[in-house]
Amino acid sequence: MGINSLISEALGSVQFNGVHYLSLKDVAANLGMKREWMKKKETMTLNSKWTQLIFSVDKRDIKLNGIRIFLGYPVALKGQDLYISELDFNHNVAPILTPQKTPDIPKLYHIVIDPGHGGKDPGSVNNFSKIKEKTLAFDISIRLKKILESKNYRVTLTRKSDQFVELEKRPAIANALKADLFISIHLNSHTSKTVQGLETYVITPHNQPSTGRKILRPSDRRRYPGNRQNTWSTLVGYYVQSELVRSLPSLDRGLKRARFMFLKELNCPGLLVESGFISNAIESRNLRKANYRHLIAQAVADGLLRYEKTLNRLRQNS
Ligand SMILES: [Zn+2]
Repeated sequence: MGINSLISEALGSVQFNGVHYLSLKDVAANLGMKREWMKKKETMTLNSKWTQLIFSVDKRDIKLNGIRIFLGYPVALKGQDLYISELDFNHNVAPILTPQKTPDIPKLYHIVIDPGHGGKDPGSVNNFSKIKEKTLAFDISIRLKKILESKNYRVTLTRKSDQFVELEKRPAIANALKADLFISIHLNSHTSKTVQGLETYVITPHNQPSTGRKILRPSDRRRYPGNRQNTWSTLVGYYVQSELVRSLPSLDRGLKRARFMFLKELNCPGLLVESGFISNAIESRNLRKANYRHLIAQAVADGLLRYEKTLNRLRQNS
């Protein structure tokens, strides 16, 4: 239980299907935001000077300043109000809106970049052009490394060539170096060739099903080392997803949640970026262009810079 949980206790929660929920009326009052209900669209908007939140009945994603944020549980309608699960408010929304409520503000200096796959593991492959995920991920990672080093960050890669690195070894590298951030670069693939877009993954908070699952499994109740960094992973994930969506001619598939092995084992904030679908004709054509891969690297770097700027501001105010 963190400080954010204390706030939600003060708000008073109700239970639907065994899950604790908070009314958006209380959430809006707590955050000093105005509430607007659009009955036709079954949508509620919360507005303040800097922030807009959009909630839709039964949806498992909301929009925060235009960016899709996935929740563990669907938004619920009861009477005249919408409700968000307390865990979602505490772990998926509050870290972005009120990160100052989490103690121990981290620094950002040493960044471990993890180019996905490598060696005997090509990752996704486009059937026509034969371009491989491992090659694109490595190229984007090298570009990102150069941009970050030009901004005076220290950068370590989990692989320095087309080599195979065990999954377990990747977070272990970041942990051994006491790195400040771990970022894994991947490209997506889907059996449907029309699917395209950008998504960013951070660790699923404990007691929540990951994005794409509906039912809570017993193992979902576990707290992993990576869960200690939930606030900061969520915040950096939001900034990176925002910059990717802003910079690239592609769709916002959202800030999502998964218990990927390397996210669970990290001692520092961590995220995984899926920067386009190799299986989609338009995106794979774009991904073959060096300037497009550079745009991806620049967008990720911009997200990390926004994250550090926020950390510095929080530190000054604390
Ligand atoms: Zn991959």
